[in-house]
Amino acid sequence: MTTTRILVTGGAGFIGSAYVRALLGPNGPSDVAVTVLDKLTYAGSLANLDEVCRADGFSFVRGDICDADLVDGLVAAHDQVVHFAAESHVDRSISGAAAFVRTNVQGTQNLLDAALRHRPKRFVHISSDEVYGSIRHGSWPETDPLRPNSPYSASKAASDLIALAYHRTHGLDVRVTRCSNTYGSHQFPEKLVPLFITRLLEGRPVPLYGDGHNVRDWIHVDDHVRGIELVRTLGRPGEAYNIGAGNELSNRELTGLLLTACGADWDMVRFVEDRKGHDRRYSVDFTKIRTELGFMPTKDMSSGLAETVDWYRTHRSWWEPMLRRAEMGRALPTRVPS
Ligand code: NAD
Repeated sequence: MTTTRILVTGGAGFIGSAYVRALLGPNGPSDVAVTVLDKLTYAGSLANLDEVCRADGFSFVRGDICDADLVDGLVAAHDQVVHFAAESHVDRSISGAAAFVRTNVQGTQNLLDAALRHRPKRFVHISSDEVYGSIRHGSWPETDPLRPNSPYSASKAASDLIALAYHRTHGLDVRVTRCSNTYGSHQFPEKLVPLFITRLLEGRPVPLYGDGHNVRDWIHVDDHVRGIELVRTLGRPGEAYNIGAGNELSNRELTGLLLTACGADWDMVRFVEDRKGHDRRYSVDFTKIRTELGFMPTKDMSSGLAETVDWYRTHRSWWEPMLRRAEMGRALPTRVPS
């Protein structure tokens, strides 16, 4: 049997590590070897890979996707690239965009240039639904123009378009995924779901942005990862695929669910000044991945959230030190991200 060597960038982060655990876990394909390339920023943790670090074919390289020599050698030694590495938190991009442009734009271009030299069989670029901007009614198909608003989403849109340009210009097999807001275990506690859960578990109040009516579609990380794997294995070169779950909730509604799941009341909620330029609503039309690749989200929101709360409740040793380190390094965001 031939082994496919997959380079996974950002594989120590929230979604990347779930993808690696799925690839090398009992239900993963048996013919893959995985190298994780990750800088281990505040958002990444080697502990996210504990389950698979002794699996056959697993290796880890600590490094930066902007390091041209390192990336060149790694891309040369692999058959496929799945690219998750990014600065991923909108609030941080509002405080300072430099790291976002560097990692998300320059880092992606660096990987694509290495891919051009070594021609891996596939390059899956993990983009985001945020690249489309904000939509009042209806849902975006993949053919809609990208109109990103935050520095984060602008950097993701730039990398998404550069990736597709390397397909059109150079014929690289590039596939792009644009998924909606993702929740689940192993997510650094700064975005809405893990921030609220960890604060409520500590008996601390949670900050809700503006009027709380911003709407997002929420997908469980296991469903997101299955969508990515379908695109890697069955998708078409040069195509973008939306991944969604049809679970649209306002931040208020989501807060209500999280309060219930954590056994807390609305008196734990503080309404705070809205995020600058806060997008009102995201909604992807994921007909294409459903009809072409047979994708269906399987996790319903209430059991997904209950499992997520349970994971944080039973893994304090995972998040408490991370949170304390982050609190020492910089002020934690006091507002609600999404
Ligand atoms: P995350 O912040 O949890 O993980 C990012 C990982 O990338 C971390 O392990 C970090 O150490 C690593 N990294 C950062 N800069 C790096 C660099 N210069 N070189 C190498 N590694 C670096 O992010 P996530 O939520 O897991 O998101 C993964 C990808 O999915 C991102 O591209 C993000 O834009 C996209 N995405 C996220 C969501 C979401 O809701 N979280 C939704 C759609 C798409």
